[in-house]
Amino acid sequence: MNNRLYGNLIFELSKPGRRGYSLPKNEYKHRLSELPAHLLRSQDANLPECDEMTVVRHYTNLSHNNFGVNDGFYPLGSCTMKYNPVINEELAALGAFAGKHPLQPADTCQTMLHLYYDLQKMLCALTGLSEFTLNPCAGAHGELTGLMVIRAYHQSRGDDKRTKVIIPDSAHGTNPASAAVCGLEIVEVKSGPDGLVSLDILENLVKEQGDSIAAMMMTNPNTLGIFEKNIPEIAKLIHDCGGLMYYDGANLNPMLGYCRPGDMGFDVMHINLHKTFSTPHGGGGPGSGPVGVREGMECFLPTPRVVYHEEENEYSVETGPYEKSLGSIGNFFGNFAVMIKAYCYILSLGKENIKMVGPLATLNATYIKESLKDDYLLPISGLTKHEFVFDGLKDKSTGVTTMDVAKRLLDYGYHAPTIYFPLLFHESLMIEPTENESKETLDGFIDVMRQIAREARENPEQVKTAPHQTPIGRVDDVLAAKHPVVTFRQMQQEL
Ligand SMILES: *Cc1c(COP(=O)(O)O)cnc(C)c1O
Repeated sequence: MNNRLYGNLIFELSKPGRRGYSLPKNEYKHRLSELPAHLLRSQDANLPECDEMTVVRHYTNLSHNNFGVNDGFYPLGSCTMKYNPVINEELAALGAFAGKHPLQPADTCQTMLHLYYDLQKMLCALTGLSEFTLNPCAGAHGELTGLMVIRAYHQSRGDDKRTKVIIPDSAHGTNPASAAVCGLEIVEVKSGPDGLVSLDILENLVKEQGDSIAAMMMTNPNTLGIFEKNIPEIAKLIHDCGGLMYYDGANLNPMLGYCRPGDMGFDVMHINLHKTFSTPHGGGGPGSGPVGVREGMECFLPTPRVVYHEEENEYSVETGPYEKSLGSIGNFFGNFAVMIKAYCYILSLGKENIKMVGPLATLNATYIKESLKDDYLLPISGLTKHEFVFDGLKDKSTGVTTMDVAKRLLDYGYHAPTIYFPLLFHESLMIEPTENESKETLDGFIDVMRQIAREARENPEQVKTAPHQTPIGRVDDVLAAKHPVVTFRQMQQEL
């Protein structure tokens, strides 16, 4: 690593008059005069002046500074970096897809509408629900849309008193946030010692809240990676009091082809296409959070809708009139490129292979969990699915925290797992390997995690002061969040 180039901004590398290119004299410069004077710069833009190799090396070095799933194992749980085959990126980028405009006439983009329609049907088949909309652009956006569907359902029956949503304490933060944005009140239900929603507590809650309950939101497997086996009983409790069941489908991947939310008694759900279906969830997007509903609730879904006309074998885009529909919940149809990737992923796996996703992810996660549970504290024993949570190191006397372990992992070339989520434990360390990691990769990670546990016992300072091998050591993340310095003061430098 060239330290003189490294760590500088491109502006700091600038030398007045330095050029990285040479072009023939611009013979057409006089045409600039055709632009109105008030639109012209009075001074040249203050751009960095560097030679070509400095620019290339600067950006290449910066790119090495990042850690991605193509650099090493990336066992991030929950907001997961699932398996995202690169070929699907290439297919989504094909000119025939990428060059389309959402406003072009339907008869010029039948293939796109066909794909859109088929993907909706595939999601219905995978979830056991009756109809999907692909319009929402994220998981949270799907939650909001789904809750609006639920509210519209109650209102259509003149049932206006249902203003509360029951949400387990293990839920992802977007669940209560979406409910609040939808104007609903949140009632938290505590998990039992087994990490599952407690039926007893829920029963009492339902008695207490009665007909003010609009819905219950659940994630399955939940954020501890545990399958909520009491869903039929829970669904009965909620349905008996007139509420609906909402399924947060961000963790759908371990269930693909094995069980379906629709069959378990859920009425409305969202899926994170980014996460389960081949788009990385990171950097804030793009995402896609399709919402599905059971039979009888299709009329509440948003518009526009893609409609298939069987006789003409043609697709059209319809905005209504759909009297009970929520109307539009975003721009056009949502993030189409994400849908292309999901479509390719589902088709390339096929009906049989899609059933391998869950078992392999579960096997990989369980292998890591069982291999590390002597060194790391497993707060809840029992079966878990595609991910699981440790509550930090088992030996609490060393003072080494989950944050320290995560930082030390960087020294060994591993991305950290999700840390300090879920909030149920103080030292949460949430691990999710995906279905496509080899045994050798998992063994390498297990060895390093054991090594870190050993270091914590024998030389805790080494772990507490990690990382030692990365270009930047431990940053003050509170300071960075509260007083971010995101601009470069060029003037100061020039003075
Ligand atoms: C990621 C996630 C969400 C929210 O999805 P976004 O696309 O990030 O809005 C909701 N629930 C669970 C369980 C998740 O993991």
